Amino acid sequence: MRRLLILFWLGLAALPAAAAVEVLATVPEWGALARELGGDRVRVFTATTALQDPHRIDARPSLLARARLARLVVANGAELETGWLPVVLRESGNASIQPGRDGYFEAAALVQRLDVPHRVDRAQGDVHAAGNPHVHLDPRNVLKVAGGLGERLARIDPDNAAFYQARLAAFTSRWQAAMARWEKAAAPLRGVPVVVHHQSFAYLSRWLGMEELGALEPKPGVEPSSGQLAALLQRQRERPARMVLRTAYQQAAASEWFAGRAGIPAVLLPFTVGGSSAAGDLFGLFDDSIERLLQALR
Ligand SMILES: [Zn+2]
Repeated sequence: MRRLLILFWLGLAALPAAAAVEVLATVPEWGALARELGGDRVRVFTATTALQDPHRIDARPSLLARARLARLVVANGAELETGWLPVVLRESGNASIQPGRDGYFEAAALVQRLDVPHRVDRAQGDVHAAGNPHVHLDPRNVLKVAGGLGERLARIDPDNAAFYQARLAAFTSRWQAAMARWEKAAAPLRGVPVVVHHQSFAYLSRWLGMEELGALEPKPGVEPSSGQLAALLQRQRERPARMVLRTAYQQAAASEWFAGRAGIPAVLLPFTVGGSSAAGDLFGLFDDSIERLLQALR
């Protein structure tokens, strides 16, 4: 009897572990969040890196292959992926990841978006026609998205629901403690006027109380022009920005030019996970961003 029991347990141990949930995340921040909440029960593939412009991604064949495999697509939404994701979803032939199904999750739908235009005019190249899509740089938004994503993982993989709920609870308490730490450290940034290359940091600025005086791009997604740079320099005389901010994927030339003329620092912020060596996960992303902003203020 005893020997039989041992054989039975050995047999169980030899069974392959249940397959991990295949997740296709469109951008690094939501891929990182899926890893935080899913642990070893998910296998996350992220479609883009911090060194790519998330507004301009091509629908490559490798993305199609990932979409065929995926049980969950974690998208940003707010039209950030309109250039490639609809094509990839349609061509994938995977019915369970289509918008409206449980296998399709959209982060920006869970938060209040900034700068939603009253009148939409995509003709002029505005890539923020549905409002500012870069919602992840307000950590309060990350918390809301985490709640929705944790619940979604539990729904599509009910056998592991308790696991996801426990991971979400642990993430929430760590994140809340980190937010309190960040808000305290970033207090000197309150009221600081800044210029940005693109409206990448609107949510970060609002959270920390920084004032964005303008952008080097005349419209979101339109290359900085000499006219726009000259107008911003003119405004520096009345109300000077203290620094000019850009992401890891944006060209340095325009912000270096402006910073040189204005006599202020040009600051590269990681923008998303992987945008700097210190931004290895979501916690590192905020630690490093705040540290770089404070450094520029000194
Ligand atoms: Zn944008």
